[in-house]
Amino acid sequence: MSLAFGAKIPPQEYTSQIRIRVRLTEAIPRVRVRGFDLRIHEMAKVAARTDGLSEWELTCFHGMIRAISTHSVKWLDLHEPVTVESPAGFLNFQNRPFRQILHISSVGSQCEVVNEVELEKYLDGLVNAEFSAKWNAKAMAAQVIAARTYAVHRMGQARLNPGSRFDIDATVRDQVYDGSMREDFRASRAVDRTRGLVLMTQFQEKGEKKWIPLKAFYHSTCGGATEFPERVWGNPYPGFKKVVRCPFCAVSPSFRWSAEISNSQMAEVVQRGVAQDGVQRNWPKAALEFLRHGTLASLFVSRWGTEGRAAQVTVVWHWGQSEIQLPIPAPRFRGWFGASVLRSTFFQISPISQGHWRFDGRGSGHGVGLCQWGAKNMGERGYSAASILHYYYPGSTIRKLW
Ligand SMILES: [Zn+2]
Repeated sequence: MSLAFGAKIPPQEYTSQIRIRVRLTEAIPRVRVRGFDLRIHEMAKVAARTDGLSEWELTCFHGMIRAISTHSVKWLDLHEPVTVESPAGFLNFQNRPFRQILHISSVGSQCEVVNEVELEKYLDGLVNAEFSAKWNAKAMAAQVIAARTYAVHRMGQARLNPGSRFDIDATVRDQVYDGSMREDFRASRAVDRTRGLVLMTQFQEKGEKKWIPLKAFYHSTCGGATEFPERVWGNPYPGFKKVVRCPFCAVSPSFRWSAEISNSQMAEVVQRGVAQDGVQRNWPKAALEFLRHGTLASLFVSRWGTEGRAAQVTVVWHWGQSEIQLPIPAPRFRGWFGASVLRSTFFQISPISQGHWRFDGRGSGHGVGLCQWGAKNMGERGYSAASILHYYYPGSTIRKLW
C-alpha cells in the first residue's frame, strides 16, 4: 500500500468553503433528483435549466447519461459527468435533502452519485448520523473535530490520485452520511464552535518531518482499551503508536455483550466467508476439501492481541479420521458474522451444551482511536474537548486550518 500520507491539499485551499466529495451510492440503476430551478450541467456546460419545481430521472450507460423530466416528455442524452445543482441550495435525492451539488457518473450500466458539499455543512449532517447531538457539548466537540480530521485526511489521500471522483464514502466504510435531513441546531452549534479545528500528527517522509492530518478513526465502545490500526486492517497509520486504557466506557450499553451461535451456523458462516474471501495464505492445501466435505469440530482463540483482544481464531475441521486447523485473523472472522453479531474482537469463546458456542465480549466497533462512549463520559465528568482528544489520540496536536 502507498505510504503517501502527506496532505495533498495546498494550505491556501484550507478555507471554510473547502468542499468534500461524498460518494452517496456506488452503483444504482436510476437516480431521481427533485428540486427548485434545477440546473443540469454536462461536462461543465449548462444542458438544461428548469424553473420552479422539477424532477428528473437519470439512467447511466457506459459514459452516457439520459436525463428524463418526469413532468414533461423532455429528455436529454448527455456525456458524463453530469452535474445537478439548485440555486436554492438543496436537492432532493432518493427522498432525502442534500446540499449544493450532485455529480452523476456511470459505472457500467449503473450510476454513481457523489455529493459535493462544503465540509462544514457535511459535518452538520454527520453529527446525528454518526453520533448524537444530544450528547454533552464537550464530547460532541471532540467528536466533531475527530470527524472533520478524518474527512480532511481522506480528502488529502483521494487527491493524490487526480482521476478520483470522490473523497469519502457515505457508509460505515468511512463515515455514515445521509444528507441534511438530520441536521439540527445543536449539531450546527458544535460544528460552528470547532470550525476549522483538525488534529495533526507528526509524520516523517524521506527524512523530512511534517505535520499531517491524522486518520482519526473512532468507534462506539472500546471495552477497556483501544487497538492499533495495523491489528484491524493490517496497515499502520501515523499517529497511532500507543493504545490507551479506557476506564470511561463502562457506562456504554455494549460494554459487555454475548452471542450464542450453533455449530451448524458457525460452519455455514465460515464456509461462506471462505467462499467470499478465498483461503488464507497460511492454510494447508487441503483446507477447501475439508471445508467442503468435513465437519466443524471446534474453535478457539489462538492468538491474543492488545490488552486481551482476540487477534486470531482457529477453527478445527474433521474429515474422516483427519483433522485440520485453520487460523483466521479475528477482525476477518468478526466481519464474516457481521458487526451486529460479534460487536468487537474483544471476546472469549466457550462451548456450551448441544453444539452451541458462546461469545462473551466487551465493547463495540474496531477499537481504534476515539471511544465515543468513553468520550461521552469524559465530557460529563468535566474533561475538555482537547483533553478528550489528547487522551484517545496521544501525541496529536489540534490546529485551526481555517
Ligand atoms: Zn472506551
